[in-house]
Amino acid sequence: MKILEDKSLLKLLNIITDGLYIVDKERTIRFWNRQAEFITGYKAEEVLNSHCYDNILIHVDSQGNQLCLRGCPLHAAMNEGREKNNTVYLHHKEGHRVPVTVSIIPLFDASGAVEGAVEFFTDKSQKHDLEEEIAFLKSQVLYDTLTSLPNRRFLDTAVDNLLNETHHYGMSFGFVLFDIDDFKQINDSYDHLFGDRVLKTLSATLMKNIRSSDFAGRWGGEEFVVLIKYVDETSFREKAEKLRMLAEHSVYHPDQGEPVRVTISGGATLARRGDTAETLLKRADGLLYQSKRNGKNRITFG
Ligand code: GH3
Ligand code: MG
Ligand code: MG
Repeated sequence: MKILEDKSLLKLLNIITDGLYIVDKERTIRFWNRQAEFITGYKAEEVLNSHCYDNILIHVDSQGNQLCLRGCPLHAAMNEGREKNNTVYLHHKEGHRVPVTVSIIPLFDASGAVEGAVEFFTDKSQKHDLEEEIAFLKSQVLYDTLTSLPNRRFLDTAVDNLLNETHHYGMSFGFVLFDIDDFKQINDSYDHLFGDRVLKTLSATLMKNIRSSDFAGRWGGEEFVVLIKYVDETSFREKAEKLRMLAEHSVYHPDQGEPVRVTISGGATLARRGDTAETLLKRADGLLYQSKRNGKNRITFG
């Protein structure tokens, strides 16, 4: 096989981060790279010149079918002359099963006939753990566990970034502080668990009705902050009012009894040059207070 004569290519294949092996037409293993040694526990000298079906890797699929006997992806790729991808569980030298994603590419000789195949495989277990861990840590640090909305820390950073844009480029953004009306009464009339459910449902309404460039987050308790980008005064009012209206028309189902409606009040203001996170929040808080004083279920802009 020509590929096996290209020493510099083989050198390169030895240092890639995928496990990789090359077989000839009879499925005899002719090359086995370092990462393949690492993933399977088998050294190159232990597997070279054996067949992939010689009880070495004994790939099984998620149903436990032995692929070497029936449905060998290498065999299929060579037979059909095209690439095959699969998730399989290979046999590690120590006996355990390792989940790997495999890609098999047939190799052709100068006349265009299949002369073998290359199998790439990556260890899914390590990758999976790391991805999960990162997602978990991220969610712990930046997202509220009850509602899955961005939390205050996330919002603080978002506000700082947006204020930077306001200072440097004069780009304003809308800041709305929402607070649920008479939420204490909801908790008292039903229970805390139902109160939590209201927080979740309301969060979903906010989240699903903003643009991807905007942010809705839980500021704390029953208070939410929505940051609306690329708006003038008129569209800011429309967008904020729409959220208030949709909250009013969301339906909350207690375990027993009639569905419940809940309203929210808001204080809404556009960021100004010279604003800090504190001045912005203070202004929104004052406006929210006015909404409460004037009868709730409304937004005061200013
Ligand atoms: P107002 O219309 O003036 O906002 O009245 P309110 O009853 O909403 O305001 P108040 O600040 O008196 O009460 C807020 C309540 O929110 C009190 C607290 O128990 C409840 N609360 C805060 N965080 C949570 C939570 O995570 N879950 C539940 N169920 N309740 C919460
Ligand atoms: Mg409150
Ligand atoms: Mg409240």
